[in-house]
Amino acid sequence: MWDCEVDVVVVGYGGAGAAAAITASMAGAKVLVLEKNPEGGGNTRYSGGSMRTYSDQGMAVDYFEALCEGTTERAVVEAFVKESSRNPEWVKEIGGEVVHRPTGTKFPTSTMVAFPNVRGAAGMGPRARVKGKGEAAGIDLWGVLSRKVTETQIEVRCAAPAQQLLVEKGVGVTGVLASSEGKDLRVRARRGVILTCGGFEYDRTMHRNYIGQTFYGMCNPANTGDGIRLAAEIGADLWHMSATAATFGYKFPEFVFGIKQAMPSAGYIYVDQLGKRFMNEPGTDSHLIWAPVSHIDTKTLHRTRVPAYVIFDEDTRLRGPVASTEQGKVSDYHQWSKDNCVEIKKGWIKAADTIADLAPQINVRADQLQATIAHYNMQCVGGYDAEYGREPDTLVPIARGPYYAVEMWPCLFNTQGGPKRNERAQILDVRGRPISRLYSAGELGSLWHRQYPGAGNVSEALAFGRIAGRNAAAEMPAAG
Ligand SMILES: Cc1cc2nc3c(=O)[nH]c(=O)nc-3n(C[C@H](O)[C@H](O)[C@H](O)COP(=O)(O)OP(=O)(O)OC[C@H]3O[C@@H](n4cnc5c(N)ncnc54)[C@H](O)[C@@H]3O)c2cc1C
Repeated sequence: MWDCEVDVVVVGYGGAGAAAAITASMAGAKVLVLEKNPEGGGNTRYSGGSMRTYSDQGMAVDYFEALCEGTTERAVVEAFVKESSRNPEWVKEIGGEVVHRPTGTKFPTSTMVAFPNVRGAAGMGPRARVKGKGEAAGIDLWGVLSRKVTETQIEVRCAAPAQQLLVEKGVGVTGVLASSEGKDLRVRARRGVILTCGGFEYDRTMHRNYIGQTFYGMCNPANTGDGIRLAAEIGADLWHMSATAATFGYKFPEFVFGIKQAMPSAGYIYVDQLGKRFMNEPGTDSHLIWAPVSHIDTKTLHRTRVPAYVIFDEDTRLRGPVASTEQGKVSDYHQWSKDNCVEIKKGWIKAADTIADLAPQINVRADQLQATIAHYNMQCVGGYDAEYGREPDTLVPIARGPYYAVEMWPCLFNTQGGPKRNERAQILDVRGRPISRLYSAGELGSLWHRQYPGAGNVSEALAFGRIAGRNAAAEMPAAG
């Protein structure tokens, strides 16, 4: 009946899958990793690779618990903080080197602590990343993880998506049905199965149902919510389905994925489809875009901020690229030009000598856009943004033509929702009982809720990957 037999099956070969597989294997378990894509890496390889460190673990627990607004049990947060505080040491043990990210910043959005006024925020330490190329540190982290998997001789089957969890009554999850080379592959898992197959960044139906509207993924297109269906099918409870880490990005017809926006200077504003500003542009944490874009005009039922537009002038254009293409799926396809000229030529960035000529290119009323910019520029002179509270040093006028606009969409770093897990990384059923021999880690069923602190998903992938790997490897082998 079985095509092969191992102790632990890991479904998904990204950061969480690699951490789980390495840990289970080092604990003596025979491990098989099943990956849907032709190669591993998932979102992890496209990420910034930022990880959390703490100056005070107790305060860190308070901070994260407060951000989760009572949706995540304190025991889970405590397990996360304790285990993730070991991430730098563990990365070193498996052959990498961790460095701290600089904490000084141009804009408040990239400070070390996203929500400094929340209880426990002072317990955060500087962010860390694997030493390597720099901003795209996810690829460096992936290098360390995948080398260790190879070195440990863990078997990885790529292009082998899991299709179903196999359950034995009274025993629990004892196998996985996958497909490989056009055939069914039935893998027996003597000790347990660990789901680490990512979120639902590319499942539009789930977006509409759970996060309110379509977001574009910036990451691995194979993350289509498979783990949620696999676990739900056998009775798992779900949590955090409405939570995302998402920002504004660009979406062009050439690609299925979105491209992260990154402005080189504070000389820009966002406007909605009515040509009006709607938020503190540089001062809103870059993961929280779900909040402003969930606005609906209650008369017309239009989502007037989806898409929205970024408007900037010649001075800002000359300061650098208005997108970040070092991270994300786009890094495989396109490097944004330093002066934005390639993207202007492509028509991705709309350009005009006057605001009046720019407005029709984005279907916004010219008089309204002119009025918005004139008002914003006046606030720059006064150094005071009465409506949205931009910091005075970010009030840089939009004053020198040509002028530019790019359409912006909510774009996902990742989703957080999925099967609920406990502090031992066991997946829970709808009555809060562990589903026997089934574990999870990573962004599939993440502990994070809507107020995401940043650098939490990679930390969680590694930390809960190890917890799941350890506990699955320690299960008594199923008889038979
Ligand atoms: C541009 C960008 C920047 C980011 N920067 C950061 C950052 O700096 N810090 C941070 O904490 N987070 C960051 N993130 C988020 C972070 O990368 C992810 O949340 C994290 O890496 C998820 O790891 P994972 O192992 O859970 O999932 P993944 O790495 O996505 O791995 C899941 C794997 O499962 C596979 N899979 C899917 N379905 C199946 C199936 N049926 N069978 C088998 N395999 C399957 C997928 O192909 C994939 O390889 C960023 C994300 C992006 C896109």
